Amino acid sequence: MDELSAVGVVSEEVPTHRHGAGRPSLLVLPQAEAVPVLAVDVGVEQVTVALAGVGGRLLGVRGWTLRRGQGSPEEAVEEIARARVDLVDELGCEPTRAGVSVPGVVRRSDGLVHEAPNLHWTGVPFGALLGDALGLPVDVGNDADLGALAEHTRGVARTSQDVVFLSADVGVGGGVILGGVSLRGSGGYVGELGHMVVNPTGRQCYCGCRGCLETEIGEDALCRALNLAAGTPRPVIVAELRSLAADGELALHRLSGFAEWLTLGLTNVLNLLAPELVVLGGLLAVLPPAVVSSVTTEVRRRSLVGRAAGSVRLATSALAGDAALVGAAELAFERVFAVS
Ligand SMILES: [Zn+2]
Repeated sequence: MDELSAVGVVSEEVPTHRHGAGRPSLLVLPQAEAVPVLAVDVGVEQVTVALAGVGGRLLGVRGWTLRRGQGSPEEAVEEIARARVDLVDELGCEPTRAGVSVPGVVRRSDGLVHEAPNLHWTGVPFGALLGDALGLPVDVGNDADLGALAEHTRGVARTSQDVVFLSADVGVGGGVILGGVSLRGSGGYVGELGHMVVNPTGRQCYCGCRGCLETEIGEDALCRALNLAAGTPRPVIVAELRSLAADGELALHRLSGFAEWLTLGLTNVLNLLAPELVVLGGLLAVLPPAVVSSVTTEVRRRSLVGRAAGSVRLATSALAGDAALVGAAELAFERVFAVS
């Protein structure tokens, strides 16, 4: 703490309200502006850039929308660099490094995006491209991995050590934290939960398999379940889900097929990873409470691990749309503090 205090990352203050006798403990307060980082969430339909301070505070945010999958990597780099200049002008503090979330298969060591199918990016050295443009060290991670990190550090999984984050947007992704540590796997590619095959006679997935979980619980599947046209704008889908929140019976009826696929996927996840908590992100965070409750009961009943542990919980993300952005900031902070 003395070292962090000496470089201005935290301040120590005597609390104004004292409880009990004896010398009061000093309050340690993060100083948000001390070593800000640039956090970037490259989404399929939106890019968000923020200057984030220690403690996870977003000091300033810029964002723009894309037509689904229409943004080239070069355009993204240009826009992100412009947003950085804008944010620095506004806030008067320079980022020390950048963390980036991409919805795809990302090599952690150098930020190479192998495949980001919904962005139509293949083999893009995004970490290097953005690093050159910004003149900063850049760390790139998969959006669901970073969502898991965000939930673990700032969200509903703060007190849990064994966590799976499952997020459904256009694609479905997963992030895994076991024993308090992010699971990496070879190359950092672990956690493609959306591509577990759950329905071998189901729809063709772009990955080459048929009936991946993504084809049954992704945005398009949710639209089918809600009788909405494919490509319905996100706010309309969210509004429809919210309208079902008040009527549990109706929600269970309309989403029974969808809930069954989610249950099947999560039963596999529980048996494989034995999390104490599953955090539902993206559109899954807006599922009606009756559906979440029913899926919880079913996965506890159907999986061996669920029956043995008995207490696995499902929670909806409190960070919602910011999970990947907050995770990108945490990814950068991990490195800031690792080298400090
Ligand atoms: Zn697939």
